[in-house]
Amino acid sequence: MNQVTTIDHPLVQHKLTLMRDRNTSSAKFRALLSEISHLLAYEVTRDLELRLEEIETPLVKTKAPVLKSSNLVLVSILRAGNGILDGMLSLIPTAQVGHIGLYRDSLTQVVVEYYFKLPHSVKNKTFIVIDPMLATGHTAVAAVNRILPSQPGAIKFVCLLASPVGLKTFSEEHPKVPIYTVAIDEKLDENNYIVPGIGDVGDRLFGTLK
Ligand code: URA
Repeated sequence: MNQVTTIDHPLVQHKLTLMRDRNTSSAKFRALLSEISHLLAYEVTRDLELRLEEIETPLVKTKAPVLKSSNLVLVSILRAGNGILDGMLSLIPTAQVGHIGLYRDSLTQVVVEYYFKLPHSVKNKTFIVIDPMLATGHTAVAAVNRILPSQPGAIKFVCLLASPVGLKTFSEEHPKVPIYTVAIDEKLDENNYIVPGIGDVGDRLFGTLK
């Protein structure tokens, strides 16, 4: 699937393995996700446009590249998306931020929205939608569908782990949205958790494991 970029940098893969370990504490898990987020941000913003600005070094006047005004909107799918959002924002502090609260009803499997807030004036901007887990794909599909009326210039989807079925569902619905992931795992279990996976990201991030 050429819509998918797998970030196979050794540092990222190493950190992901530490995150997979059930004995990793919430504090360590959060720190690792934040570190990985920097590398994800680096990869997903490769095509940002630059312009030349005249500056003066201690030696001479010169023209050097700076980012054209930021037109990025980071959209976190709550609550686990915030684990990646904060790391990305530390690298791209001028990005605008939106949040979408979605959960999948455990009985009906229908995606339910409980929160939606985007910044003003986002037309034609590049949206980076963030959710650590692309499991069934339904939440990611719903999030992109919700953003489309805001007329983004482009949308990218960033996750930590993807399942084959999640990738298929997402790419059937949104074939033009690039997906960035650190790994594609084997399958989903009967509760739609990614296997081997990292467990429930929200619970591990915020220490709410039962
Ligand atoms: N959400 C999670 O937190 N973990 C999974 O494995 C799948 C969805």
